[in-house]
Amino acid sequence: MSFQDKSIQCSDCGTTFIFTAGEKRFFASKGLTNDPGRCPQCRKAKKQQRHGLCGSWANYASRAMLSREYK
Ligand SMILES: [Zn+2]
Repeated sequence: MSFQDKSIQCSDCGTTFIFTAGEKRFFASKGLTNDPGRCPQCRKAKKQQRHGLCGSWANYASRAMLSREYK
């Protein structure tokens, strides 16, 4: 399997970015065979957002669940 640089248009901001051969190899090594749909900036932003939301939401949800169970 050979890896080549590929230009992809970000589905979020519309920027065209280069999905490099190195990144492709890195993705493949993690078992990800699909091309990313977003540029690195949007991926990073999304990741941080999801992480932040997920953390507080999980916290809130578990607390809500506990208070419901022990009422
Ligand atoms: Zn983007």
